[in-house]
Amino acid sequence: PIFQAITKHKPTSTAIVHSDSNQTFSYGTLLRDVVAAKKQISQILPESSICGERIAFLAENSYSYVVTFLAILAHEAVALPLAPSFPPAELRYILDNSQAKLLLSTSGLATKAKEVLKEGLQREPVLGVIEGVKQDSISNDAKIQIDGASSGLGGFMLYTSGTTSRPKGVLLSTSVITAQARSLIEAWNYTPADLLLHLLPLHHIHGTINALFTPLLAGSAVEFLFPFNADATWKRLAAPFLSHSASDARRPITFLTAVPTIYNRLLSAYDTLDHDLQEAAQVAISPINLRLNISGSAALPTSIRSAWTNLSHGNVLLERYGMTEVGMALSCGLHPADRVDGSVGWPLPSVEVRLVDTDTNQIISEGQELDQDGREREGEIQLRGPTVFSEYWRNPKASEAEFVRDDGGGGKWFKTGDVAIRRRVDGTGQSSQRWAKGPIYFIRGRKSVDIIKTGGEKVSALEVERELLSLPQVSEVAVVGLPSEKWGQKIAAVIVLDPEQASSGKGSKKWSAMDMRRALRDKLANYKIPQELKLVENIPRNAMGKINKKILVKDLFG
Ligand code: ATP
Ligand code: MG
Repeated sequence: PIFQAITKHKPTSTAIVHSDSNQTFSYGTLLRDVVAAKKQISQILPESSICGERIAFLAENSYSYVVTFLAILAHEAVALPLAPSFPPAELRYILDNSQAKLLLSTSGLATKAKEVLKEGLQREPVLGVIEGVKQDSISNDAKIQIDGASSGLGGFMLYTSGTTSRPKGVLLSTSVITAQARSLIEAWNYTPADLLLHLLPLHHIHGTINALFTPLLAGSAVEFLFPFNADATWKRLAAPFLSHSASDARRPITFLTAVPTIYNRLLSAYDTLDHDLQEAAQVAISPINLRLNISGSAALPTSIRSAWTNLSHGNVLLERYGMTEVGMALSCGLHPADRVDGSVGWPLPSVEVRLVDTDTNQIISEGQELDQDGREREGEIQLRGPTVFSEYWRNPKASEAEFVRDDGGGGKWFKTGDVAIRRRVDGTGQSSQRWAKGPIYFIRGRKSVDIIKTGGEKVSALEVERELLSLPQVSEVAVVGLPSEKWGQKIAAVIVLDPEQASSGKGSKKWSAMDMRRALRDKLANYKIPQELKLVENIPRNAMGKINKKILVKDLFG
């Protein structure tokens, strides 16, 4: 079904753009090069021996990545993208864990690939280099057919971000990734008229499914600009709207999807741009030009959301929630009124969601969102449907633990480990989208680290972080629970102060725990206000801008 969809796109329309050189590759060219790369792979290993096997590959964020990835799918094998930025030891873990049979690399990354294989692996993969694509050969041939790719053995293997423990391998079959893409195409309305600016690493669900595979299935164009650089991003966004840009004709970007830290860095960098660039950038991200701007992978702070809305003349970031194991699960709607601050919206098309009370283990059905005391009930998000993976790779223990059988016999539910509340919000449901109706979801955080139990109360670290980030003194924050004899857990805030706020004003006095508590007094109930404050220079984050709270607690509080 993947190649059927891609062969239906107009062969002359653009599939991929390299932002730095403005080099473009059409769908016709892409199909022709996939056929060639497929042949190259069968010269390295016979076709019959790679069907269904994991084929790892190292490629830059480029056209070559896309060709390699699709050529692996055409072999009915499992494409496993490796992050070129990972140290060899990390890549060895993934190669060992996945038992990849073949490691492909672009010629630019061949040295890295060799280095990775230098030390012994349990099952050493065969090494192959995919030759570069010829720059000047344009193919407008609509008749190219990719044979094979119908047994259902192929797919995608992604590793989770490793925020809570070592990354787990997730096998996503072709039918799962196609279901995920179809759900997003319906929800976010990707079309051949879209040009998506791609700023993310290509070894996680956000960068691969949402920002690459789905637009390719829809016939949209994807422009790679990587590694992320705020100035370069603003320049690219603004280019079509600068008066002297005729010589370097660039299409306006219509679609942007990124993590909150990227939006934050864009907002800070904006202030340092030249005036002309600032004006053009504002036009570029206004709702008439940038059709859709999406945020996800971590909670979107109110401060970033409102600053972006102001700067873009009302382009409200659309927040969504998802994970490697299931793709996207919840999303706000296309109508601006269907993007509520702090909410991730409704279950996406074809995703079945239930909320299971974390205290009573009962399903929270619609209308039962409040407990006897009128408090909102928190529940774990559980999911099922055609977009959900079936098991962790070579990890039966985790697979067994993360699924629950349904008593009604309707198939098993995947336990996301994330906690949410559900609430009806007046004025929502304005999108003419069937799925975006009814009560909406608000993420409270991960059950394992973000739901802090203190003095018999449960506190969402995400809620406290949101309030702290709305203070001018705070530029970054992680709220964590620490063991406490008296309270069970006590709340601590790890904070990076805003450099301007910290140095200006009342002398050079640093912010104290008392200052923090005072600033939060009118915003949060007393038991939710952190007792401890740790000021730090920076908070380490992984490639997706996420904080590993377990490691943070160990490092800072021993
Ligand atoms: P690991 O499973 O290895 O610990 P990870 O869970 O961070 O890492 P991913 O699958 O990339 O790996 O991330 C999914 C998680 O990201 C979700 O389970 C959720 O906790 C978080 N997340 C995604 N979107 C949002 C959002 N909009 N708001 C809050 N959290 C989000
Ligand atoms: Mg996870």
